[in-house]
Amino acid sequence: MIFVMFGAPASGKGTHSGKLSEALSIPCISTGDLLRAEEKKGSPLGKIAGSYMKEGILAPDWIVLSLVCARIAEQDCAAGFILDGFPRTVEQKEALDKMLTVMGDKKVTGVIQLDVSREELISRYQQRVNEDIAAGKTPRQDDNQQAFERRLEQYAQWTAPVLDAYRAHGVEIHPVNGNGQKHETAASVKKAAEKLGADFTTAMGRLRGQGSLVSKDPGIHLL
Ligand code: AMP
Repeated sequence: MIFVMFGAPASGKGTHSGKLSEALSIPCISTGDLLRAEEKKGSPLGKIAGSYMKEGILAPDWIVLSLVCARIAEQDCAAGFILDGFPRTVEQKEALDKMLTVMGDKKVTGVIQLDVSREELISRYQQRVNEDIAAGKTPRQDDNQQAFERRLEQYAQWTAPVLDAYRAHGVEIHPVNGNGQKHETAASVKKAAEKLGADFTTAMGRLRGQGSLVSKDPGIHLL
């Protein structure tokens, strides 16, 4: 199973792909996290990507693609994975299709599209900043008004067309209303994943073995 969790910045992609990953026992790959880790390491790729990220601009495709290509070839991705924040351009989508083909004729199973209003996106990023400050943490460098506005523009310009490209290629897309409470969205995401063929019963068996049936977030019970 290869799922793409699709949505605008602050739509909850990270939260819900993380929960789905836990429930299905398959890894969640966030390109934002891969890029931030690279930046933290101080690698040349990370330094270049960081200069774009802090402005709220998409990192160059060649950097993102080289990181994703290496990550999805790892052993833990063999049974499937969830992509969070990737692909974000039509070029990335096309490169992903090629990567999956050479990795054994695989394909994206489907797209779960989190639909959240612009007002709600802005309110969520502001809430994230306030929570970080209250917890004594430094907010993300791209969680400021200017960078966030630019992230929304980049989403409209480069990322929204990816959905049309999936549609044109006959890939199943399941829209989910992401404006409500986390647990409501989580339940809708689960339904969408089931429609795409996710088997939570098998995943539940695997999780029972690991003694972890309930999400770490007390507000969210996926199984
Ligand atoms: P995120 O953590 O998904 O909100 O991503 C934070 C930032 O990382 C984005 O605003 C981009 O600058 C960069 N980024 C993450 N994923 C991608 C991607 N697939 N393509 C290009 N840039 C990305």
